[in-house]
Amino acid sequence: MGSFQNINSALIHGGIPIDERTGAVNIPIYQTSTFKQDGLGKMRGYEYSRTGNPTREALEALIAELEGGKAGFAFASGLAAITAVLSLLHQGDRVLISSNVYGGTFRLLNQVFDHFGILFTVSDTDDPERFEQDITADVKAVLIETPANPLMTVTDIQLIAEISHRHGLLVIADNTFMTPYLQRPLALGADIVVHSATKYLGGHSDLVAGLAVVSSDELAAQLAFIQNASGGVLGPFDSFLLIRGIKTLAVRLDRHVENAEKAAAFLQAHKAVQRIYYPGLPSHRGYEINRRQAKNGGAMISFALRENYDIRVFYESLKLITLAESLGGVESLVCHPATMTHAAIPKAVREKVGITDGLIRLSVGIEDIDDILADLAQAIEKSEVG
Ligand SMILES: *Cc1c(COP(=O)(O)O)cnc(C)c1O
Repeated sequence: MGSFQNINSALIHGGIPIDERTGAVNIPIYQTSTFKQDGLGKMRGYEYSRTGNPTREALEALIAELEGGKAGFAFASGLAAITAVLSLLHQGDRVLISSNVYGGTFRLLNQVFDHFGILFTVSDTDDPERFEQDITADVKAVLIETPANPLMTVTDIQLIAEISHRHGLLVIADNTFMTPYLQRPLALGADIVVHSATKYLGGHSDLVAGLAVVSSDELAAQLAFIQNASGGVLGPFDSFLLIRGIKTLAVRLDRHVENAEKAAAFLQAHKAVQRIYYPGLPSHRGYEINRRQAKNGGAMISFALRENYDIRVFYESLKLITLAESLGGVESLVCHPATMTHAAIPKAVREKVGITDGLIRLSVGIEDIDDILADLAQAIEKSEVG
C-alpha cells in the first residue's frame, strides 16, 4: 500500500495528493495538449498530453498505489485499457479467457484481434485442471475476471497464477467488479490488473474510463510505450473526475455491499426466484474461494425468475431501479445480459455457459435498502402470470 498502511487513507491521499507548485489539495485539471520547452530538448517533465499529463499522472500514481503495482496507466475506456494490454501479444500468440468474460472483451478478441492473428480460447478458469489442459504451446497469456459477469463465477487467482507462471504465461486480471478495496490480484500473483473505471472506481455513472496496473518495471516500460504509441489515453477532466470518485470508494462500497447482502437474502428467500448468483451467499459455488481472496461478495447479483414470471413485465415495472447498461454507480441498475452486456457473444456460446434469456443482473446501489427491496417486490409481483 505504498506509504499508507490502510487503503481507507490511501484512497484519499495516495498517488500525488497535492499540487506541487500551488499546494492545491486537489490536483488541478491541466487542460492542455502541449507544454512549453525551455530550449531544444529542455522539457519541464512534460511534452505532449498523449505522452503525459499531470492530472492523468496523479490518477495513474493513485491506482498503482491502490493495486500495489509498479505503474498505472489511464485510458479512455475499460476496453481501451484491455486493448493496450492485449497489444503486448504478438501474431500467433493465444490468450485463454474466463468463460463468463465481459462481452466486449470477447468481441474485441473475436472480431478485432483475430484480424492480427492473435488467437483465444474460452477456458474454465474456475476449474484449474481443465484450465491447465487448455494451455497449448501457443498460449502466452490468460485473462481472468473474478467474479465473472453475469454468473459471478469465481476464479482462484492465486492458483491460476501459479499454474500459469509454471507455463510462462502473463496473468491479466480484470478487477472491475471488486476494485482494490475488496480484492488485490497483484498480491495474489497476477502480473497485470485492468479496470473499467467507468464502474465502481468512478462510481457515479458520469464518465467512461479504463485503468491498467502492472507488477514489474519491464511491463511498465512496455505498456507506457503502447499507451503513447496507440494513444487511447484518458483526458484531464475525466482523470480529475475519477480521482474524485476514488476518494469515496470505501464508504460507497461499504454501503453497496451492505445493501447487496440484504437484497441477495431477500431474493434467495423469494418464491419467484429460481436461481441466484451472488458470491457473498454461502450457497454460491465460489463462495469459499471468494472469501479467501476478497473482502466480501461485492454488490453484483444475478438471478432468474421462475417460468410463470414474465421478465419483460418485471423490467418495465421497476420504478426506482433503472434498466440500463453499466454497473457500479450509486444508483441501482438492472440489465438483461442476454440482449445487453453479453449480446456480442453468440447465443450458442451464451446458453452453453449459462447466460440464459431469463437471467436478470442487478447492480445494487446505495439508496435506502427498504426502497430497493420494495421496488423488487412490487415488480416481481406484477410480473407473475398465473
Ligand atoms: C464495463 C466492463 C468492461 C469494459 O469497460 P468500458 O469502460 O465500458 O470500456 C470491461 N470489463 C468489465 C468486467 C466490465 O464490466
